[in-house]
Amino acid sequence: MARIGFIGVGNMGGPMAANLAKAQHQVRAFDLSPDALKAAEAAGATVAPTVADAVKDAEIVISMLPAGGHVRGVYMGEDGIFANAVKGALFIDCSTIDVATSRAVSEAAKAAGFAMLDAPVSGGTGGAAAGTLTFMVGGDADAFERGKAAFNAMGKTIVHCGQAGAGQAVKACNNMMLAITMIGVAEGFNLADALGIDRQIVYNVCSTATAQSWALNTYCPVPGPAPNSPANRDYKAGFTADMMLKDLRLAQDAAQQNGVSTPLGSEAQALFALYSNMGEGGKDFSGIIEMLRGKK
Ligand code: NAD
Repeated sequence: MARIGFIGVGNMGGPMAANLAKAQHQVRAFDLSPDALKAAEAAGATVAPTVADAVKDAEIVISMLPAGGHVRGVYMGEDGIFANAVKGALFIDCSTIDVATSRAVSEAAKAAGFAMLDAPVSGGTGGAAAGTLTFMVGGDADAFERGKAAFNAMGKTIVHCGQAGAGQAVKACNNMMLAITMIGVAEGFNLADALGIDRQIVYNVCSTATAQSWALNTYCPVPGPAPNSPANRDYKAGFTADMMLKDLRLAQDAAQQNGVSTPLGSEAQALFALYSNMGEGGKDFSGIIEMLRGKK
């Protein structure tokens, strides 16, 4: 079993570190939040007082941080991972960040003699707790092989997507598709309501017809048809609208940098920004149906 340094044990990183400890890996965790560290300790990790201490003898270093700036700082900062990790350590960044930063940090890791993978996840806090996350992985094939035991302890579907940044690229594409689909499903239900059609009937037909999708079938934005969807608990997240907005911005940045036209991705970003500015960013992203309806 491996010695693993884990940086960022928040809503996602906490349960991921817990599953590594459950699989008998030795986990040393660091986070800026004492509460997050307390929870990680209760779940079987050893608490480290600094990044340096968490990574000092780690064979694998995993990070799960909010955004690109945090990742750059934690890896490349003066007392960061590059400066303190042992030779030959494998780095796995599971944060969802922009492709450009991800590639830059991977390049810098390579130049410093370390292997690095970008490995953003899909599956939310529920998937993190259950150990059923999907990992989208970018980086060298041999580094991917070395990371497999750790991935398997935290997830169910592990996909090697290509070279450095490829995991982030697939994640941005997936979430842009998901946001657009959710808005489409929401518009469909709002139209059906206005036409006086029972929502369950709409669901029964559309979820088996050509509109079927995860947003409709599993994560249905109206209460009733899919009993476990956030619509049944007043849109308590789940996956917050603010997180979706962050991911849409990453997708739009990538689209602009590469000259790709994504008009619906751009519109989805504008709509989620509006929803967030209404003070609803902490709700589940499927709650955007309420804004589109114009009333609760
Ligand atoms: P979170 O805010 O709960 O956790 C992030 C943790 O990082 C916090 O505990 C914070 O204290 C810590 N942190 C920040 N800067 C640090 C630093 N310099 N050193 C050490 N620790 C630091 O966020 P989260 O929900 O766990 O999300 C983490 C990442 O996972 C994000 O990139 C997010 O987009 C992605 N993600 C989240 C979900 C979800 O459903 N929450 C799903 C998929 C992907």
